[in-house]
Amino acid sequence: MSDNKVIEEEGKKSLNFIETIVENDLAEGKNGGRIQTRFPPEPNGYLHIGHAKAICLDFGIAETYKGICKLRFDDTNPVKEDVEYVDSIMEDIQWLGFQWDEVVYASDYFQQLYDFAVELIKKDKAYVDEQSAEVIAQQKGTPTQPGVESPYRNRPVEESLDLFRRMNEGEFEDGSMILRAKIDMASSNMHFRDPIIYRIITKHPHHRTGTQWKVYPMYDFAHGQSDYFEGVTHSLCTLEFEVHRPLYDYFIDLLKKDDNYRPRQTEFNRLNLTYTVMSKRKLLQLVQEKLVNGWDDPRMPTICGYRRRGFTPQSIHNFIKKIGYTKYDGIIDIALLEHAIREDLNMKAPRVSAVLDPVKLILTNYPEGQVERMEAINNPEDPTAGSHEIAFTRELYIEREDFMEEAPKKFFRLAPDKEVRLKGAYIIKCTGFKKDENGVIQEIYAEYDPNTKSGMPDSGRKVKGTLHWVSVEHSLPAEVRLYDRLFMVENPSEEKDKDFKELLNPDSLKVLTNCRVEMELQKAKPYDHFQFQRTGYFNLDPDSREDKLIFNRTVSLKDSWSKVKGKE
Ligand code: ATP
Ligand code: MG
Repeated sequence: MSDNKVIEEEGKKSLNFIETIVENDLAEGKNGGRIQTRFPPEPNGYLHIGHAKAICLDFGIAETYKGICKLRFDDTNPVKEDVEYVDSIMEDIQWLGFQWDEVVYASDYFQQLYDFAVELIKKDKAYVDEQSAEVIAQQKGTPTQPGVESPYRNRPVEESLDLFRRMNEGEFEDGSMILRAKIDMASSNMHFRDPIIYRIITKHPHHRTGTQWKVYPMYDFAHGQSDYFEGVTHSLCTLEFEVHRPLYDYFIDLLKKDDNYRPRQTEFNRLNLTYTVMSKRKLLQLVQEKLVNGWDDPRMPTICGYRRRGFTPQSIHNFIKKIGYTKYDGIIDIALLEHAIREDLNMKAPRVSAVLDPVKLILTNYPEGQVERMEAINNPEDPTAGSHEIAFTRELYIEREDFMEEAPKKFFRLAPDKEVRLKGAYIIKCTGFKKDENGVIQEIYAEYDPNTKSGMPDSGRKVKGTLHWVSVEHSLPAEVRLYDRLFMVENPSEEKDKDFKELLNPDSLKVLTNCRVEMELQKAKPYDHFQFQRTGYFNLDPDSREDKLIFNRTVSLKDSWSKVKGKE
């Protein structure tokens, strides 16, 4: 068997249940062998990592089976929608590496949907109700108790037709009337109890149709039909829509002209992450109340937040592949996502030196004014990545935490009379230190051993600790932003008796303003990735300027996922 064949066979074994459905449909020749999907966001917020899961599936299925995938904005509610969101959604999908075959909008079908609503009224399958939303909700009943029929339910068809037309002409106040489908107030499926299908909205122009329409279809009256109008074959969405499916099918059956085609909806589990909220409503609240610095705050679970934080599209793809698609809702450990970005950046990110909390180290026996260019390997995982130079001088910075005045036995870093290696340079021995009047260490003194230069044949002497460093003179000041989980509890959505905002982690952002980074980082461009030796993966923030470099910590080096699961 050729290598390709083996890969193919293995690929077959790992089909997810949706791919299996698609392959069966293809084998049966359903829909004339066509595969068409769509990604249907409502433009009322920025995309989050949960959406990425849906995107990878919708676009992925089309890609794998040579079908098409359209980007459809389900823009049925002008009160909450905005072009800002439309633009950001397109940018994020492309950043993830996907391209739609066409952009369409539910609003493209407003006329068709309106006509269909009129048709339903004519067939006595819809009526105008003049009760308030509260009363209608009260009459819904419960899953075990039938609902109460509206007094308007049996009004003459002509009357509903007339009122619906006038609703759309702006004659009535928002909320004063609605159009309901006339189905079954005793149905065991609550969505069949005369669902609202049209409402009046006059106070908010629509981002595309302006003030042309005064009535707007409800999501449930637009989604399934839009799939049908477009020719979608596989309508993939999250599990919460399973109970809506019979209603979508009901409308499609009334609309359908022939038996050769109908869209089929399949639901999969949504992505939930620990220490994260994923609802657009809640994310919007965080932004509006300035609890985070905008939608692209690197602590946000939005695609643009992850992008700014330094995640790569590849890491998100790998993560989504790992979690897969099932029929069971659950919550994924955020450590798995962090593991995916670590794995990807380990292969890609050049290693550089940065000292986040600097203290001065003076090599008293190193000639003043001397500069040595040490070779720093860019990436030991990637032999093609080459190396760069880092300047070594008499005065250096090291991390304050890498020195202890009185060190325990197991402390393999610097302490009086102890030896360490300076990474890529020499072995040094600490000879003393100086404190200020508050007892804070100001300077550390050491002597270097000229016979221990890294890479030289005679550098055979071994010491336990290796420290990173930068030259005082040949380094740049930088700000470094350290991020931690945005929420303190594992499942913020589960704490029903608390406002989710009370669960925010007060230490989710720590800004370090006195950092020093090696000169090589002068060349860094926004979003470039680096591994700061011994500390973690970082990227250059887009707000960074030449005179003020700003870095985001994407993720620390410590991989709690591998530790839990063992090496994968
Ligand atoms: P939210 O419920 O977070 O406010 P939404 O479902 O209202 O989001 P839409 O814009 O309607 O957001 O979602 C577009 C598509 O993305 C839908 O098909 C939906 O099923 C899918 N989707 C939304 N959230 C998730 C998630 N957490 N995991 C997987 N898919 C999701
Ligand atoms: Mg939703």
